[in-house]
Formats: sequence, structure tokens, C-alpha cells
Amino acid sequence: MIEPEQVRCALGQMLLRPSPPQSLLIVGMAGVGKRTLARSLAAAWLCPQRTQGGHCQQCAVCQKWSDAGEHPDLRVLKPDPDQIKIDAVRETRNWANFAPAVAPFRFVILEEAHRLNPAAANALLKTLEEPPPRYHFILTAPASDLLLQTILSRCRIVRLGALTTEDVYRRLKTRFELPDATLQTIAEFSEGAIGRAIRWAQALQTPESESKGKSAHNELDALQKLLQVFARLGAASLEEALRLAYDFREACKALEGGTEDRSPRAALALGLEYLIQWYRDSLALNYPDASLRFASHRQELSMLARRFASAERMRDLQTITEARRAILGNANPQIVTEHLFIQLLRV
Ligand SMILES: [Zn+2]
Repeated sequence: MIEPEQVRCALGQMLLRPSPPQSLLIVGMAGVGKRTLARSLAAAWLCPQRTQGGHCQQCAVCQKWSDAGEHPDLRVLKPDPDQIKIDAVRETRNWANFAPAVAPFRFVILEEAHRLNPAAANALLKTLEEPPPRYHFILTAPASDLLLQTILSRCRIVRLGALTTEDVYRRLKTRFELPDATLQTIAEFSEGAIGRAIRWAQALQTPESESKGKSAHNELDALQKLLQVFARLGAASLEEALRLAYDFREACKALEGGTEDRSPRAALALGLEYLIQWYRDSLALNYPDASLRFASHRQELSMLARRFASAERMRDLQTITEARRAILGNANPQIVTEHLFIQLLRV
């Protein structure tokens, strides 16, 4: 995976050339910033006074951007509702019969290009094979192998990797005035996806009286409670196992529903996934260069590491993974979680 810094550098170099690549494909997981990057690259290339840093925001071309982020020389195609259909590709092809309105080029962005249906993919391929003059394409997709080989072979590919927890935290810090502990939790649970982290932080800034603000706060609460449960594993006695299992299940309850409409079992499985990550972090403490997901909990992780040897924690990882599998099956959540915490706290 290419580091974000290197991607930025390579793209900056690309912006210095007189014309953009014919077709560019941006790949990366959801929330990593593909859409934002596609738009800022298009904006930069449309601008005749662009620099390595992007468009100038002042010239006649840049003045044409509407508040809604539309531009006469840009078309954006996206799944409607879950496929990009041939009509949309054809219509874009007709649009391409006209010369650019103000910019030196015209851009077509295809968001989630893996959702082109077969007919639309073929139509696009014809366009990519014989592109109209001064027309350029930017495609985005979660992974390159989801696209036709024939389309791939015509694209220059840019891969966006996940950021580290520290990177996400630093970027949030420059944009949001939220408490440090909140920013840390967002960073730790965003899985390196800066787009997701930003949406969460924005939702936290909306009043709790609005449903978006309320669910963002609930989720933050639940995750912080979950981390408190994990932190107790470093010191709790075996007698406290059932209490921990109970608190764990309660914290997971608050993860039910949400934007992904999680079922009670899915919420518990997610909680266990985070617990797996917690144990991984405790093992990664041995490697000074390793980036920790729960970086702000180094002290609690060290307590766990001092209490149980690495070999024991490796076995625990296996135990938690099995518990997760049982939960996703049909096993009784109370029995599975109680059994799990008893095993984790064995003396
Ligand atoms: Zn400009």
C-alpha cells in the first residue's frame, strides 16, 4: 500500500504536467477519501493557473464552481440507485460532442465505477478506447479487481491506503474543536478512513436534539464504555468476570441500529472485533515502530501485557475469535460472553 504522503507527492507532480492523464482510477476502501480526491484533482486540472497544491480558486474557470460543487466542464456519474446504467454513459458521450465551456478540458468522474452494469461498462470502454478530444476520466472503486480488465488497462491507478490512528487524529485536530478524548476515540475507531472520521466529527458538532447528532453521541458513548471494559482486563479479578461480560454486552447494545442498522448479534460481534484489535495492540507493544490502533490507551494495554504473557494473549486472540464466530452463529450471547471473560481473566 502506498503511503498517503507519497500519493500526494506523486499527484502534485502530475498536476505540473500540461495535460492530465486520459483516465485515472482511484481505489481504496470506503471513507478513505476517493470522492474528495477525484473532485479536487478535477478542479485542479480544469484550472489553467493550477499549482501543485490544486486549483487557484480565482480565475475565470474556478469562478464557475457553484456552491453545490458543480462546474460546466465537469460531469459526475454515480450509481442510481445501485447501478450506473448505459443511458447515463450515453448521455455523457453526447455531452462530449461539445467543446469545453470555459476550461481547457472536460472531466467525467465515475464514482463507484464497479457498479457500472455490463452494458454501461462496454459503452464506457468504447469511450475510453476512442476518447473525445480534451475529455478526461476519473474513476473510483473500492478495489481494482472489481473492474473489467479492459477498462483497467486504460487507466492510471492511484491507490489510497488507510491512514494511521495518529494521522487521522492530527487531521481532525486541525479541523474540529472537540475534546481531545473525543478526537482520539474517533481516530481509533475510524479504521484509518478519514472521510468516515470527518463525517462522525461533523455529526458530533450538530445538536443532540437532531437525530444525526444524537446517534453520533450514542455511538461515541458506547465505544468509550467498551474501551473502559477492555481497560479493566489488565487488573480485574476472576470474580469480576461476569460483571465485565455484563458491561461488555451493555456497551454493545448501544452499537445496535445506527446507520448500518446493526442487529444485536452484529453489534456484539463488532464489540468482539474491537476486543481482538485491543489484544493485537497489546502484542504490538513489543515493537516500537508498530502503529497502535488504540494509541491513547498505551498504559492500559501495558497493564494487560504485564499481566499475561504474549503466548497467553495469542491464545486469547484465538478464544475471542471463536467467541465471535459463535455469536454470529446461533449461540446464546450471555453464555458465550461470560465464558469468554472467565477464560480471559484466568489466573
Ligand atoms: Zn483557477
